[in-house]
Amino acid sequence: ARIAMQDATQLPDGLQLYQQGSDVAHQRQITLIRDLRHAPQTGGLSLLFQPKIDLQQGRVYQAEALLRWHHPQHGAISPGEFIPLAERTGSIQLLTAWVVEAAIRQLHQWNGRGLHLEISLNISAEDLVSQTLEDQVAELLGRYAIKGEQLVFEITESAIMRDPERALAMLHRLRGLGIRLSVDDFGTGYSSLAQLRRMPVQELKIDQSFIRELGEARGDAVIVRSTIDMSHALGLKVVAEGVEHDETRDLLHAWGCDTLQGYLYSRPLPPEAFEAWVAQPPVHPASARL
Ligand code: C2E
Ligand code: MG
Ligand code: MG
Ligand code: MG
Repeated sequence: ARIAMQDATQLPDGLQLYQQGSDVAHQRQITLIRDLRHAPQTGGLSLLFQPKIDLQQGRVYQAEALLRWHHPQHGAISPGEFIPLAERTGSIQLLTAWVVEAAIRQLHQWNGRGLHLEISLNISAEDLVSQTLEDQVAELLGRYAIKGEQLVFEITESAIMRDPERALAMLHRLRGLGIRLSVDDFGTGYSSLAQLRRMPVQELKIDQSFIRELGEARGDAVIVRSTIDMSHALGLKVVAEGVEHDETRDLLHAWGCDTLQGYLYSRPLPPEAFEAWVAQPPVHPASARL
């Protein structure tokens, strides 16, 4: 408890958040906040890779890297729990640095074996205003001899809109390294396509809340279809995440969506399983697998 209090006093924002919780939940969070900042050194972090299916080419050339954390006492902690904690308590930049290096190292390995794939990874609002992100990424690209073109950074609209001026500057710097930029969870924030048009982004990911029950909710269909059309008119590629049903895939295919991602194809996989998945022969986009 004494150690916990020491840590907690360094984290006034985080502490306030959890005062309402029960003692047990509170203790768990104090422990997680403390251990999270050491996780890049002590281990327990890993990346899973979820295939993104290119409908035009009918194949997979890209994966989203999703961070996993296995805590020595508490076991698997979901990113839905530890990412917001890290964002509130100043350790997200340490995690992002770990993720970027792990992804670039993975690309280096794949390239070495003749597997030419791209990785997209998630970046938080705090990373965009950090000043150091671009330098870190540039150093890692050089060290592992990887081109920025093999990376996509996914950034939520709310992360961009938190401090649009500074975010815009960082996005331009990242673009300068050849990295493509994707707007994650599109439709859940308050930004419009008109605002995003001024950002150096190349791709838009429609949030899974619009995609998951696409066949059933009529309103979702209108939103998704017009978002695809407007994005294309603005020169943006469109990704749909959360594709779970055949019917959803067929609609998105008919509407010209560029890339699909979801449990219908695959859950996020460890690197070896992802490689095995990719190695299977491509199938026509309209069939169950592709
Ligand atoms: P996200 O970036 O929007 O990632 C998509 C999430 O949806 C992932 O959850 C993925 O496993 C899940 N998903 C994919 N397809 C389906 C589907 O068909 N149905 C359903 N129900 N879910 C699907 P995950 O891995 O739990 O990650 C949750 C969120 O945590 C991510 O949302 C992202 O915001 C954040 N996150 C994960 N890894 C990182 C990271 O390395 N850095 C940062 N900053 N955030 C991360
Ligand atoms: Mg994402
Ligand atoms: Mg998303
Ligand atoms: Mg999300």
